[in-house]
Amino acid sequence: MNKKYVRAIFPGSFDPITNGHLDVINRGMKLFDELIIAVGRSPVKNQLFTPEERVEMISELIDHKKMPGVSVESFEGLMVEYAAGKKADVILRGLRSLTDVQYEFQLAMTNRAVAGIETIFIMTSEQYGFTSSTLIREIATLGGDLSNLIPKSIQKRLKHRLKK
Ligand code: ADP
Repeated sequence: MNKKYVRAIFPGSFDPITNGHLDVINRGMKLFDELIIAVGRSPVKNQLFTPEERVEMISELIDHKKMPGVSVESFEGLMVEYAAGKKADVILRGLRSLTDVQYEFQLAMTNRAVAGIETIFIMTSEQYGFTSSTLIREIATLGGDLSNLIPKSIQKRLKHRLKK
């Protein structure tokens, strides 16, 4: 039997990307033939980094030799429309807690109802269960040590951005 080619998209704000996101990406890429990390250009969310910066920051972390099939781009508007345009088979999302489950459940049901697209979830590794971009931004603003939670390149960018 021929194996089905599966293209997944991993949409999110990634403001900034964390080790938690990277954990989902590293585990997700083993399940799919193609994984597109899709940075949302949200007009409502107050963001620290521009979509272009976020795409660049993620691109720098992708080792194409070790991560074949993984790419990153930004999108505007409705995520399911973007997913359809990309001919994505599934949406990948990460789960950290029961609070995430409640929100993600609703989102996944809505996306399936409006666009017929399935969502696949990857549970966080224990050490990243409390890591969120919001918390990272807050800790960075207060000058805390983030070395276990985000890559060095992201720490540098945060430091630089918050100096301004
Ligand atoms: P969004 O604004 O779309 O929630 P985020 O960048 O906050 O964007 O998150 C993107 C996805 O990554 C979401 O599915 C979120 O649950 C997941 N995620 C975020 N942090 C972690 C983590 N530490 N472990 C696992 N999944 C995570």
